[in-house]
Amino acid sequence: MHNNIELYIQALNSANCGIIITDNLQPDNPIVYCNKAFENISGYSYDEIIGHNCRFLQSQDRSQPERQYIKEAISEGKDCRVEIRNYKKNGDLFWNELFISPVKNDDGIITHFIGVQNDITDRKRAEHELREEKSSVERKIQERTKELIESESFLSSIIQTVRESLLVLDANYKVLSVNNHFLSSFKVTKEDTVGKNLFELGNHQWDIDTLRELLMKILPTNNPVIDYEVEHNFPYIGKKVMLVNAYRIEFEGQYKDRILIAIEDITEKKEIDRRKDDFLSIASHELKTPLTTIKGLVQLLQRMKPDGASEKYNETLDKVSVYVDRLNILISDLLDTSKIQSGNIELHLEPFDIDKTIRDTVDNLSVSAPSHTIELSGTTNATILGDELQISQVINNLISNAIKYSPDSNKVDVYINRVGNFVKVSVTDYGMGISSQDKAKIFERFYRAKHIQKKFPGLGIGLYISHEIIANHKGTLWVESEVGEGSTFSFTLPIMKNQ
Ligand code: ADP
Repeated sequence: MHNNIELYIQALNSANCGIIITDNLQPDNPIVYCNKAFENISGYSYDEIIGHNCRFLQSQDRSQPERQYIKEAISEGKDCRVEIRNYKKNGDLFWNELFISPVKNDDGIITHFIGVQNDITDRKRAEHELREEKSSVERKIQERTKELIESESFLSSIIQTVRESLLVLDANYKVLSVNNHFLSSFKVTKEDTVGKNLFELGNHQWDIDTLRELLMKILPTNNPVIDYEVEHNFPYIGKKVMLVNAYRIEFEGQYKDRILIAIEDITEKKEIDRRKDDFLSIASHELKTPLTTIKGLVQLLQRMKPDGASEKYNETLDKVSVYVDRLNILISDLLDTSKIQSGNIELHLEPFDIDKTIRDTVDNLSVSAPSHTIELSGTTNATILGDELQISQVINNLISNAIKYSPDSNKVDVYINRVGNFVKVSVTDYGMGISSQDKAKIFERFYRAKHIQKKFPGLGIGLYISHEIIANHKGTLWVESEVGEGSTFSFTLPIMKNQ
């Protein structure tokens, strides 16, 4: 028997969980046994433990609800399991998973309690971290939702204030919302619009095949509709020109696959542009007529030079002729611009030898611009079907610009070659170059880079005309440039078939 007890005690001592036995028949229920593991968990030695009530493990942390629970279980003589904060001898907190079970004698009186304890601090910490993490995720979600709601109301206030008509459609082109500007500019009510199909609005003004096609491509391809002009006799507001832009929109977590349509009334702007163009075309016409007469008269004077006219007289007359020519070119450019603008530019298509055209143009310019050497290299031996005069005007523009915008250099390179069924002509200068913002705009009508406005004369139309001329010949004109290093303007032209 004695041996058996030794055996049991050894078993208890080798257990991983702390085990204590208290004697309930003695006052204050003292501990009468504890195993090795309990010493380890608590940090107290056997001698320091025996005789104490278990509460010493709680140190000063006495307000935990679990204590009450244990008390009740003990007084009622029931099993109980709690997780409770306890403290080691050195003051360190440990979480104790505690099982208490009463031992009764034959008369049903509780003589002992057995307490089994596990240090679950690590598990508790992991649980705690998990809880923290969860609540931080929840917090983030709440914040994000708040942000979304705020940005939505921020957006909707912008949408209501902008001076552009906006419509939001679902994937079936049904109008989901409109802004006030739309309602006031088209003189319609919300009821007329929201919930209706875009193509059935008003008198079907938006039901245009090409617009419908473009809009249908937005969702599958994400390609926006940019600057599509609709000219129409609208109900209530009459004949107007509207500029339509449309984009696919997505609002994170709320919806995707919607279409935002922005409509701008450009009727007045078009009208002003038209008047400006009319003015330009009339003014240049009116200027051209007397100038042609002046040119003729100067030629007459040159031919009827009085005998013994001084050198000075001749020089002056020649200068007048040169300036009249310059004015003539300027006015012709202006006339060309208005012709291009109204789509009235005529192409006189004839086959011509492009190498020769370029050589002639370069030779002419070399004489009039002694400051720069224009070096021509390459050959194409190609025939172009096109308007030779216009092509020579383009080369002229490019080389003149190359000279004008490289005052500190003395060289312009012109290079021609064949690329596939095209000829390619490049004009390179080593001058000021063009910034990337300007690059995007220099082919527009009347555009001139800001910093050069005062220093160099010009109207900002040469490149516009050149670009249009090359486009009319089914070629392309483009520029590559680095600020401070120079620019290369290149264009291509299709070589005539059977070449
Ligand atoms: P203009 O020379 O009369 O201003 P253009 O249409 O020929 O008009 O050119 C438009 C603008 O492009 C110029 O004002 C200038 O800013 C820029 N540009 C054109 N050619 C060059 C070049 N070779 N180097 C630098 N800038 C250029």
